[in-house]
Amino acid sequence: MTTPVVLCELAAESAATVTHGVTMLAGAAGSLLAAVEELNAGAVAVRGRPSPAGVTIAAEVTGPGWGRRCPSAPILAGEFRRRGCPATVVRTHTDPDTAELTRQIIDSGRPAVLVGGEEPAVLTALSAWGAAAGSRRILLAGPRSFCAGVERAIEIVDRALTRHGRPVYVRKQIVHNLHVVQELEQRGAIFVDELAEVPTGSVVVFSAHGVSPAVRLQALDRRLQVVDATCPLVTKVHSEAKRFAARGDTIVLVGHAGHEESEGTLGEAPDRTVLVQNEQDVDRLEIDGPVSYLTQTTLAVDEAGRVVDALRARYPHLTGPSTEDICYATTNRQDALRAVVADADLVLVIGSVNSSNSVRLVELAHRHATAAHLIDDASDIDPAWLAGVHTVGLTAGASVPPRLVTEVIGALGGFGETTVQERQVAAETIRFGLPKDMRTEAGGRR
Ligand code: SF4
Repeated sequence: MTTPVVLCELAAESAATVTHGVTMLAGAAGSLLAAVEELNAGAVAVRGRPSPAGVTIAAEVTGPGWGRRCPSAPILAGEFRRRGCPATVVRTHTDPDTAELTRQIIDSGRPAVLVGGEEPAVLTALSAWGAAAGSRRILLAGPRSFCAGVERAIEIVDRALTRHGRPVYVRKQIVHNLHVVQELEQRGAIFVDELAEVPTGSVVVFSAHGVSPAVRLQALDRRLQVVDATCPLVTKVHSEAKRFAARGDTIVLVGHAGHEESEGTLGEAPDRTVLVQNEQDVDRLEIDGPVSYLTQTTLAVDEAGRVVDALRARYPHLTGPSTEDICYATTNRQDALRAVVADADLVLVIGSVNSSNSVRLVELAHRHATAAHLIDDASDIDPAWLAGVHTVGLTAGASVPPRLVTEVIGALGGFGETTVQERQVAAETIRFGLPKDMRTEAGGRR
């Protein structure tokens, strides 16, 4: 069975009762353990101390002289929160009455958690968690996580904070990842949408996605001290836009409306650039004279290729960039996911909802008819997705810290035995130098 057994308060002996697919046992510690073994439980929850602040779930349990981890705690906490029940992940010391029982259950190798709280949602959430219990394989796509442009942008903010002290303002999210932004906020970065929010004379960092010339002018007007974290591969697209516009071309930019990178590129030659998002947009174009195209760096390679093919069919003399604008990191992450998706029952893509390259990975999995979800971290995993899933394909967008991948693997391990196999399709050795005025910190990268 995979449904969980909940061990209740250690009261007098009582029979097992089943509710919400969860078997509840109450009794003395020795008889409880024997009962669990008899039931051949797939997952076991031990009812801990009730908490006045909603439900508590132990990520780590200690007893006299021992300590054990319960890695699926963040996923179970997320399940409670989605059911409207506040849940906190804690480290906890077991009651003397339950310590030995808890240790034996965890050491038995079954998925196990210690849950405190009396809310009605406890049983239904445990039921979903228990239904996901079982051994499975994780197919890890490589490359994944941080690219060279993201590492450089984060280091630039870090150095700006070291050099100028708090606060350092950042226009837009430095990279599109919730965790990166939160960590930099804690270190003193203030993220703003517009330069009008930045006090005159302050230090402001431009994000990895780049800005239009109009934004640079505005910064000059406000006498802001600009630190530019634009990815060099985005700067390359801006240079191409300037070159194509200077020779009199109409530029067709293949990209997503409203994305910061597209807005920045459009701003290089706003009167000579049109944005297309798909082949239907190409059909509607009416352009006289020479036409060239550029693309956003984080598009789906195959989709963008179809749009460019449609452009070439309409404008046979179309010219384009000397090398593809879709960057190496986007291409590699898509190739890597292609290498695992056919063998996966479910794909998990770690990334934030506004991360273009992460969203493209989810879409790629869907195009291969594989269920796929975008998650910011382990707490976003709905246990229902895992029921009946034997192989999980796992990847992460270019703005995702590698530690989140490790955490998700650990959390999946909390449902049962996991084996992890990596399929690496490319080695990434690219690194970008820092802007000249950021290279002077001792011991740092030049
Ligand atoms: S995804 Fe590509 S363009 Fe964007 S920051 Fe990374 S390397 Fe640069």
